[in-house]
Amino acid sequence: MNNLYLKSFIRCKRKAWLDYQGNKLHKIWSPHLSIEIINRYKNFYKISNGDLYTGTKACKKGSRGVIGLKARSKLTNNINAEIQPQLLKKVVGHSKWGDYKYIPVMYKLGHRTTKEHLFDLAFCSILLEPFQESKIEAGLVISNYSNQINIERIDLNQRLRKKVLSTFLNLNETLKRSIPDITEDRKKCTICSWQKFCDTEAKDNGYLTDIDGIGSKTAFLLHKSGISNIKELATAREIDLGEKLNQFKDQKFEKASKFINQSKAYLSGTPIRIFESDNLSSLLSKKDSGFFMFDIESNPDEKHDFLYGFLKVNNLFENVKDDFYDPILNLKKNCKKSNQEIIQKLLSEKSWPVLHYGETEKIAILKLARQLNLDVKEIEILKSRFIDLHLIVRGSWILPIRNYSLKTVANWMGFKWRQKNVSGSKALYWWIQYKNTLNDLFLKKIIQYNRDDCMATLQIAKWLIKKRNY
Ligand code: SF4
Repeated sequence: MNNLYLKSFIRCKRKAWLDYQGNKLHKIWSPHLSIEIINRYKNFYKISNGDLYTGTKACKKGSRGVIGLKARSKLTNNINAEIQPQLLKKVVGHSKWGDYKYIPVMYKLGHRTTKEHLFDLAFCSILLEPFQESKIEAGLVISNYSNQINIERIDLNQRLRKKVLSTFLNLNETLKRSIPDITEDRKKCTICSWQKFCDTEAKDNGYLTDIDGIGSKTAFLLHKSGISNIKELATAREIDLGEKLNQFKDQKFEKASKFINQSKAYLSGTPIRIFESDNLSSLLSKKDSGFFMFDIESNPDEKHDFLYGFLKVNNLFENVKDDFYDPILNLKKNCKKSNQEIIQKLLSEKSWPVLHYGETEKIAILKLARQLNLDVKEIEILKSRFIDLHLIVRGSWILPIRNYSLKTVANWMGFKWRQKNVSGSKALYWWIQYKNTLNDLFLKKIIQYNRDDCMATLQIAKWLIKKRNY
């Protein structure tokens, strides 16, 4: 048993079980994990000043950074344990190798330091101390934003160590039993390599968390009220359910109606029209004009939007030709030339609406416009041209799907991305690969993906208009 299973276990008991004895054929490649591994290595190399080597040999030699070390020991109850620390960093002290010792270091993607990081560092220390014959007082969590390494010191005190050992025993017991239930907090599943496998089971069993807007807390409350699956939710009475959803306060009856309708749509496969939002009327009033479909690809950790994709159509129902799509690459952050090109593109058709999915695109363009000192009036006009299809879909329809992301909605409407298993994270993975290799093939993949995102946005706009005309 090792620290990697422990890390999985803290995230989701089922994940640890599947990692340990699940059928690996059900596992899918996770771009998130690959991005983490690439970034991790780059940052470890930096904080070791290039003196980064592998295994026990590197420890003996006194390298500043050591990766790939494995150490084993027996823990309480005679359980065999192993650690594979992400990085060991050389610090001042005394160990069996000389006048230095090592402390464990972890890399984190994102801003939050979680229990996973703390427990991993503490567990690695417990086994590393006898291995190097030296005490460890602290570990480090490192992250990188906008090309700056941040280092956080974690105190590895007795309380934390005690908790880790008890979790480790718990992990051992769990792995001996049958597969644990799917986590109630399904947000965790979005970056998990077992997602497809678990999604199938959740669907077959009618899990409440498959309903948009129902998270772990609401599911728990519904369970307590005697509603344990989607079928039961679909047949609940709005008034009774509303009374039970106290946490939503004034919106409790509105939420009850939404959950019931969402369950009905999910079970029947038939979309339900709710009402016509102002945004839909605005789209309909402009349907005979030309349009831009607009989609951005970005690296959130570096706050860098690296591709702005525009699909320009004279009307929504014309056949799209190759040259209708124009990708503007912004290879260097804050490049004035590409920023100007992007705004010029939008101003090339001053009255055309700009269709996008989600709020990111509008926010990014308004920021660019301000940076380029456009006057307030021009910015207001530009702002008024943006139409968010995500808001329109959510405001006017309940669709038979699990969530309302661009991928899920457009897929349900029949759109197919030309590259298989693509996602925003995969585009980010390609971008990181491009930055490391400067191989244009990765840029081509990103551009093709972005073009499809624009085409998917167009498909949604057409669907909304066609359905309105029935
Ligand atoms: S997909 Fe979700 S439930 Fe399944 S193992 Fe991963 S985190 Fe756990």
